[in-house]
Amino acid sequence: MKVMAQVAMVMNLDKCIGCHTCSVTCKQTWTNRPGVEYVWFNNVETRPGQGYPRRYEDQRRWRGGWELDAKGRLRPKAGGRLRRMLGIFANPLMPSIQDYYEPWTYDYETLTTAPLSEHSPVAAPRSLITGEPTSVRWGANWDDSLGGDPSPDPVLAEVSEQVRLSFEQAFMFFLPRICEHCLNPSCVASCPSGALYKRSEDGIVLVDQDRCRGWRMCVTGCPYKKVYFNHKTGKAEKCTFCFPRVEVGLPTVCSETCVGRLRYLGVLLYDADRVAAAAAAPREQDLYRAQLSLFLDPSDAQVAAAARESGIPEAWLEAARRSPIRDLIVRWRLALPLHPEYRTMPMVWYIPPLSPVVDAVAGSGHDGEDGGNLFGAIEALRIPVSYLAGLFTAGDPEPVRLALRRLAALRSHMRAVNLGEEPDPSIAADCGLSAA
Ligand code: SF4
Ligand code: SF4
Repeated sequence: MKVMAQVAMVMNLDKCIGCHTCSVTCKQTWTNRPGVEYVWFNNVETRPGQGYPRRYEDQRRWRGGWELDAKGRLRPKAGGRLRRMLGIFANPLMPSIQDYYEPWTYDYETLTTAPLSEHSPVAAPRSLITGEPTSVRWGANWDDSLGGDPSPDPVLAEVSEQVRLSFEQAFMFFLPRICEHCLNPSCVASCPSGALYKRSEDGIVLVDQDRCRGWRMCVTGCPYKKVYFNHKTGKAEKCTFCFPRVEVGLPTVCSETCVGRLRYLGVLLYDADRVAAAAAAPREQDLYRAQLSLFLDPSDAQVAAAARESGIPEAWLEAARRSPIRDLIVRWRLALPLHPEYRTMPMVWYIPPLSPVVDAVAGSGHDGEDGGNLFGAIEALRIPVSYLAGLFTAGDPEPVRLALRRLAALRSHMRAVNLGEEPDPSIAADCGLSAA
């Protein structure tokens, strides 16, 4: 057994208010430079919505670009060596600048120095790429308007139409995204120059700027579209998991500045020998459990011995033991991976939002959050379980139901505690909290 350590993040979506503070502080730290104006290593999407770059989840768009190799890793499809040598010319399956958005600025000079006149000064947005006035048609958080521009995608357009037609059943939540620092990173497998690599000590995926030749196979190969091209330097760039901060014991910038305090950081141990087999699980719906099965218990003496043999330092073992991440992901099964069906074994996990129960359906007479009523009413939650399952478990509703039931139990328990009432032990038992 080859034991590896991985830094990972869990985000509690109920707490995200969509303020974009994380995106802005990340941008100020990492991509506030020429050539990457359009780049958001951290972005916050409104759901339902098209995401950033738009329609990145529509893998049919990118399917021609890559396939699974024998080891379960994603590689650029067909064409082999010649295709890789041709690089960008044979690699058209990338988002365009319009899919990200054309970055713009305002003519602040006009705004601040215009002479006093009858009308307010007007400053048309100006493209940062061409310098010309531009009409802004799309941006990284365009879906914030929920139902503004009709989507060009028929499926999303239908969702948008449904939102308009049935406002009472409308739902939305925010999904912050960074690079997943995958256990089976397709960006690494896609790079013909060997510039992308996964650090052995902590699993952070980085781009070696000296080796990058700008082929952009990584952009095509990443199903989450979290590698970006710097148009000034001609090199790929991506989220670094703030490694210079993590190395000295500081949290990532997005975690530290998150106003909702919803990002949990920690260390997980996993069995590297089994990653390829897990990523190649025949059924997409099995991938969440296949990934779960890779994680090891650092308190287990055998695991600790194997970890030491694999070169894991004692400090990392201790960090893995104390990590809240393992409990959230493995013990309580509250956190779920984003799109496990992409087979890259993503390492940013999400606690799904426990939206309010629609009272009429729950029939509780209150807000439907009192004990037993809620447990029977998971299907009456405002955000459909099927929608969450499509995001987090390749369509399998059971892990989503379990996480939501446990969140409901916790909410009910804490409400009783805060009101000075006796907590109902059957709530914990009903939800399997005591057994987990
Ligand atoms: Fe690579 Fe994309 Fe996974 Fe990040 S999310 S490690 S860029 S494949
Ligand atoms: Fe959400 Fe926190 Fe980012 Fe605000 S800073 S958008 S609460 S993740």
